[in-house]
Amino acid sequence: MNLTATELRLDSTFMNELEASFRGELVTPGDPTYDEHRKIWNGAISRTPALIARCAGVADVLAAVRFARKTEMTVAVRSGGHSFPGQSVCDEGMVIDLGLMKGVRVDPQARTARAQAGVLLGELDRETQAFGLAIPAGIVTHTGLAGLTLGGGIGWLMRKYGLTIDQLLSVDVVTADGEFVRASEDENADLFWGVRGGGGNFGIVTEFEFRLNPLGPTAFAGAVFWPMEESPKVLRFYREWIAEVPDELTTIVVHRKAPPLSVVPPELHGKPVVVVACCYAGPVEDGEKVLRPIRKFGTPVLDVCAPKPFVNHQAMFDPSFPRGWWYYFRSCDVAELTDGVIDTTVDHALRMKSPLTAFPIFHLGGAIGRVGEDETAFSGRGAGHTINVNATTSTSEGFDEEREWSRSLWSALKPYHQSVYVNFLMEEGEERVREAYGAQKYDRLKALKRKYDPDNFFRLNQNIPPD
Ligand code: FAD
Repeated sequence: MNLTATELRLDSTFMNELEASFRGELVTPGDPTYDEHRKIWNGAISRTPALIARCAGVADVLAAVRFARKTEMTVAVRSGGHSFPGQSVCDEGMVIDLGLMKGVRVDPQARTARAQAGVLLGELDRETQAFGLAIPAGIVTHTGLAGLTLGGGIGWLMRKYGLTIDQLLSVDVVTADGEFVRASEDENADLFWGVRGGGGNFGIVTEFEFRLNPLGPTAFAGAVFWPMEESPKVLRFYREWIAEVPDELTTIVVHRKAPPLSVVPPELHGKPVVVVACCYAGPVEDGEKVLRPIRKFGTPVLDVCAPKPFVNHQAMFDPSFPRGWWYYFRSCDVAELTDGVIDTTVDHALRMKSPLTAFPIFHLGGAIGRVGEDETAFSGRGAGHTINVNATTSTSEGFDEEREWSRSLWSALKPYHQSVYVNFLMEEGEERVREAYGAQKYDRLKALKRKYDPDNFFRLNQNIPPD
């Protein structure tokens, strides 16, 4: 009984019941804000749900889940709306949208923070950095904290403080049968294990509690640019250099055409470059010292490394990933930047067409690898680098060609694939989800799914079917 939009409007019993108990906003096709609320970050995805339930709090989430149960509607759950493949919006079904739930409370004495599911990374940093504290998270401020955390969470502070889930203390969850539970190491510990990497498979997380760590608020951070033709040399030097750097330093290599930003000299705009972006999570003077060798390597065409507020550095990549452009990603982890990985990557990078395509290679290691592989559902703690081959255009024009380019680089890297980060998967099928977790962990996740969501009510995600 999957109701169409019209049927839903007509079915006054169910709708009246929901409306009577709902504090947030219920948006249906034809409402003036429908288009605004159905759209997600990736402009290549356009879907038309029958109902968008914009929850104002936990009571609304409970009501929305119970409504979806009664009407047997397909449910998509949305927090920040940054799912690459658009798994937070559906056709015909219902979107449970947590974007209004923006509460953040920092306890500077206890060094903990509570954040509701609709919080974006920049909003979280603003609150925690007011006390010189931080949670390791991603590299773009408008990404949703919820989806990022549930998949693991990699970013600028990961080598020092681990994944986002490594600082997670507890979660509040609305389960598939519309019940509210808390999960932590001491309470529903199996669920707590599963939400730390298992995505949205086990329920809707309405609130997260994190441990906080000291940071800045000033950090030595920025980026160094070279012409892309020099990338084979730059990356060979980079590989030796990162083998020795302390965990305070996280770096990300980006291949792209230089963007027309004010910090980039006009003569460089549109020129293919290789960029080493960096953030030092420790004393500024130490960061300056540690970064010296890479900044001196060869003849950089631009160096924007400097002491700066961490929140400014966090926003550095924002202009490269605005809402509404067309995006397609293929991702893999590799153990090392071998000559083969470097040469294959650069060979393809030199052939990217779009001036908007920018693909990162994250350097992992450090604190990530100090948590046991079985301690959380996240997999791939031993990986050396996560490569995210991102193809971007501003509209559909040129998108197919750029997407083919992304696929061809990803395929050419196949001999070096080690694992894949679940938050960087497109809709690639069950086998790829299984690969992301490894066979043993996947079976454990399946058993957990049978316990918490035996009907696969939450299936618009990197799905782990119960059977
Ligand atoms: P949404 O689209 O809202 O949701 C994504 C998935 O999570 C969906 O399946 C949804 O159903 C599920 N979900 C969302 N909220 C909940 C909830 N409260 N309870 C249960 N399930 C839920 N990842 C990193 O680790 N590091 C990065 O630096 C990073 N940078 C990124 C930059 C950009 C521009 C983008 C688009 C993505 C980036 N990612 C990064 C990937 C990101 O972690 C995932 O796309 C993540 O799913 C986004 O979370 P969201 O809440 O915005 O997504």
